[in-house]
Amino acid sequence: MRIDLHTHSTASDGTDSPADLVRKAAAVGLDVIALTDHDTTRGHAEALAALPEGLTLVTGAELSCRLDGVSMHMLAYLFDPEEPRLLAERELVRDDRVPRAQGMIAKLNGLGVPVTWEQVRRIAGDGSVGRPHIATALVELGVVPTVNDAFTLDWLADGGRAHMQKHETDPFEALRLVKGAGGVAVFAHPAASKRGRTVPEAAIAELAEAGLDGIEVDHMDHDPDTRARLRGLAQELGLLVTGSSDYHGSRKTCVLGEFMTDPEVYGEITRRATGAFPVPGAGGAR
Ligand SMILES: [Zn+2]
Ligand SMILES: [Zn+2]
Repeated sequence: MRIDLHTHSTASDGTDSPADLVRKAAAVGLDVIALTDHDTTRGHAEALAALPEGLTLVTGAELSCRLDGVSMHMLAYLFDPEEPRLLAERELVRDDRVPRAQGMIAKLNGLGVPVTWEQVRRIAGDGSVGRPHIATALVELGVVPTVNDAFTLDWLADGGRAHMQKHETDPFEALRLVKGAGGVAVFAHPAASKRGRTVPEAAIAELAEAGLDGIEVDHMDHDPDTRARLRGLAQELGLLVTGSSDYHGSRKTCVLGEFMTDPEVYGEITRRATGAFPVPGAGGAR
């Protein structure tokens, strides 16, 4: 069985629609695919409607978390998508962009900069508002000469005077929410140091004690030594070991099924889940 438990579609930052994604997964010979868009289950319905015969869909999401200032991702599988507390948290993470931008504008006003929400909104146009738009407003106001000059500690850089962190879930809270919605939780690419700081092994042990089910070991951002170390850690902590492509379509170089999960581990994940069940494809519209 060929099992890939971590992929993204246009429902978050992938480039394939959910329907195209499941068609491609079937075409490359996968038997099971998990759709795990960032903080949303929006793509599930389309993927299910298009699911080819012979391919099974595992519904999921990749939750944005932060522990002691370190951003981390938690894969959640087969939870009840309607469970209100987990749903509210996903929405909070997604809907945070506007209040965050407004918070940064308020901080700038406090620093004597007369930037307004209307100005930033106009600059953002149809796009979802973010720091680059606020930086452009600072250029318009003559506060800084270029957008890059706004990304300093004086202004909008991480930790800067006018910066506001985006909302990310405490991972222990994420575990409670996922479990409460009948799901299974796997720490995504826990040692992907190319992406920034990673959480220490002691924290993974604490998460394991708090109910974490597994860690994603076989991932493109882990070199062979890292994989070996994580495999040992998982054994020590009694965690499941998964592997997956973290496919993003053309956004990243990886291909579907580049790394895969052992069928026994997949079986265990499905046994632990009570919020939703894997859906075998009946041969949707091709
Ligand atoms: Zn991730
Ligand atoms: Zn991902």
